[in-house]
Amino acid sequence: MKLRIKGKKIELLMLLKGASKVVLFVILTAIPSIAFSSSRVNDERFLGLKNTLLSDNSDALKVIALLALQESDYDSNSINTLLMSLVSNERSPEIRKGAAIILRNRNSGSFAVAMFLMEHLVREQDLSVTGSIIRTVAKYNCFEVYRAIRGLAYSSNSIDVKREAVYTLIDMFNMGVDEIRNLADHSVEPFRSELISLEKMFMGRKIDRGIITDCQVVSDNQTITNLQTCDNTEADMEIAGTHTYVRNGSPMNKVDIVVVGDGYTIGEIPRFREDVVDLKNALFDHEPFKSRFNEFNFHCVDVVSVESGVDRPLENICRNNALGVFYNGGTQMLISRKDHVRQAARRIGVNADLIVVIANDSKTGGTGFLYPVFNNGSNLKNTGVHEIGHSFAVLGDEYVQNSLTYEGFEPVWPNLTVHTDPSRSKWKDLLGTDPFTGATVDFFEGGAGEFKYGIWRPTKNECKMNVSGYSHFCIVCRRAINRMIDLRK
Ligand SMILES: [Zn+2]
Repeated sequence: MKLRIKGKKIELLMLLKGASKVVLFVILTAIPSIAFSSSRVNDERFLGLKNTLLSDNSDALKVIALLALQESDYDSNSINTLLMSLVSNERSPEIRKGAAIILRNRNSGSFAVAMFLMEHLVREQDLSVTGSIIRTVAKYNCFEVYRAIRGLAYSSNSIDVKREAVYTLIDMFNMGVDEIRNLADHSVEPFRSELISLEKMFMGRKIDRGIITDCQVVSDNQTITNLQTCDNTEADMEIAGTHTYVRNGSPMNKVDIVVVGDGYTIGEIPRFREDVVDLKNALFDHEPFKSRFNEFNFHCVDVVSVESGVDRPLENICRNNALGVFYNGGTQMLISRKDHVRQAARRIGVNADLIVVIANDSKTGGTGFLYPVFNNGSNLKNTGVHEIGHSFAVLGDEYVQNSLTYEGFEPVWPNLTVHTDPSRSKWKDLLGTDPFTGATVDFFEGGAGEFKYGIWRPTKNECKMNVSGYSHFCIVCRRAINRMIDLRK
């Protein structure tokens, strides 16, 4: 590994130009004397860089450590966790900004990283960092990111953030005049006048937004390895129809959920429709979905599979199911052909804020990455809503199935923390009693499925993300869901 000042690193330096001249002087003079010559992965050196970045060192030293990390080949998960921790907790805006940029550069196309940065975007107080993160996540140029930036344009308290969001949407996503007009209608002066002038500027210019692609599903925290799949990659997909169960308004202003099914034959489409209604009733029986029902639209697309059921490769059962959903051992279920899912969902004619996949199969299973996927039957109401919690609001599991100790940094999930010091906790303002469930809100050790120690959840057992049969999300999860509704509509 060598440390050089060229190429991509210049981008970082340019963005760090707000740092003092002393800082830059130290960077430029210190680099030649640092011996980054090791050609193999070196744990000790990584720990040294990590200590530099996490201690109260000068910004200059931290910049050097960041540059070294950027070019290194240390274990990718460790670097990402470190960068995420810096973006979340570092006091210097310049270092936060630099960490965000490197994180993006290292993980181009990772949906989890985009989601992490977007989560941070909403909380970030420093405008220069917000602007930088907006541009950074915009490079993903995928749909969920577009929606998040659009959410900022509509709802940020800062006119500067709104402006940055609007110009990013125009530059990176070809936002059209209709949407500028709509935004103006929802804005107050002086921003409203600014948007109206913008609208005039773009009037008459044909803007083709094109198709904004889907964000990538595979992430660093959720690396999916050694998948066993069926070989029948060619599946036939037929759409028998579509139906809108709830229409509360224009998709522009509402959260649109689209449900698609896999492993339903033409004769089983009536069963699919029943499952969709069961899911709708179950979801809107949970707060805050229940009280914000008027902010949703709810649709389904009848996807017809040639064969009933989905793939179970571990049992050597391979079927011709349209969306290629398959079980991956234990209770895991994944999608192998996400393009087919998006393609099917598009048939409803609106851009979905959340696509939900129901598998017609008796075997219990579910996951919640980019799309929540779960089987029908009794599993629908419990696991289904739990998985939607994962995919819609990036919630973590609050249950514990193993006895490992968590040793990482503050996790991305809003409902899990490593900080039991209330002043640093994500739910410091919610401690006490959950006014809705009556549960005690505090720090209960264990979570994220695997960890019995070293990570804390907000309630003992009173949350859908802990016990999927429990009827409510906890107050911390409800707040996260509310924030995503605000962001996505
Ligand atoms: Zn919860």
